[in-house]
Amino acid sequence: MLALTLEFILTQLQSYQLVETRLQEQLENGTARCNLCLWRCKIGHGQRGFCQAHVNRNGTLYNLSYGILSSVDVDSIESKPVKHYRPGTTVMSVGSYGCSFRCGGCHNLEISWGVGALDKLAKGESKEAWVTPEKLIAAAQRAGVDGIAFTYSEPAVWLEYVIDVCQLAHAAGLYTVYVSNSFITDEALKLVAPHLDVLCSDIKSMRDAFYKEICRPAKVSQVLASIKKAQELGIHVETRTNVIPGKNDDPAEHYEIACWVRDNLGADSPWHITRFFPAYKLSHVPPTPDASLYAAEVEAKRAGLNNVYVYNDKGCDCATENRSIDFYLETSVEELHQIKKCAADCCDSEGVLLKKYEIKGS
Ligand code: SF4
Ligand code: SF4
Repeated sequence: MLALTLEFILTQLQSYQLVETRLQEQLENGTARCNLCLWRCKIGHGQRGFCQAHVNRNGTLYNLSYGILSSVDVDSIESKPVKHYRPGTTVMSVGSYGCSFRCGGCHNLEISWGVGALDKLAKGESKEAWVTPEKLIAAAQRAGVDGIAFTYSEPAVWLEYVIDVCQLAHAAGLYTVYVSNSFITDEALKLVAPHLDVLCSDIKSMRDAFYKEICRPAKVSQVLASIKKAQELGIHVETRTNVIPGKNDDPAEHYEIACWVRDNLGADSPWHITRFFPAYKLSHVPPTPDASLYAAEVEAKRAGLNNVYVYNDKGCDCATENRSIDFYLETSVEELHQIKKCAADCCDSEGVLLKKYEIKGS
């Protein structure tokens, strides 16, 4: 019955339209509450939630970004980073617009906050490509990947599309990966969990003050509880901490994170330690020195974690491409790999995050 319903919905959605927010409560005077992430935004008619991706129209909430892709890439699962699930396989990574956080050092501002793109969608002026779940899965199958990864923007605020794509992915034999900040409600996590194989979650800090700076209501305990719950719900979980000089680079804090992972996810649960690169409000902060990354690794080992991975890559952003999403969905896998090569030849082709935005007016 469920499959029939999904099939019916997918055949109807051939051009862009608003899709109802999956978890919402109607309140008084046309106001509605979104229960996807822990902001639990109360949204009046004509207003949008904090993530900008959900809008209230006459008392009902809709997801503006359903079927809207900001980025697509084909890569190894290890690059998510996920090391202990189907190693050596490839994923098609996709993202949309919108995030529940506002990190000062975010490298994906244009897509994670996506205010411009979401404004146009809200006004009905958008020329963004509309990619149905079926079209996306067909592209993934043509590219010969083994899974689909939701990343770049926050998948919790894109949940309606994520779930529809995951259902088709599983039917096609593809696994699903969800890269998240884990600021998600219990009910949203329960809704999406049966459709997810892997969660790669940030543990940004063990201090509430850090989270408060990037997301006023967020608490460390909420994020950690969501990560633990995901594992209890049967999802393969790996965690990641981006070490930012002067913000979360205290070895004592890294020891605390490692102890939490050991006690709640298990001593074999992988923890990824990544380097920060200056961006946006943290442009003045230098990249994380090797010494801080390896000091964190020492703390993790001291806590008894068995699978700790340090990434001291150069993080070059020079190989940006700017073609339409349609181009990337239709192109051959060979072309996708060629595009991955850094044009300036300064950073090798590995570890380069391509950001593929729509060309204005295309
Ligand atoms: S997803 Fe989160 S931030 Fe976005 S409208 Fe819903 S509760 Fe608010
Ligand atoms: S959670 Fe990630 S995507 Fe969202 S603002 Fe922070 S760094 Fe950017």
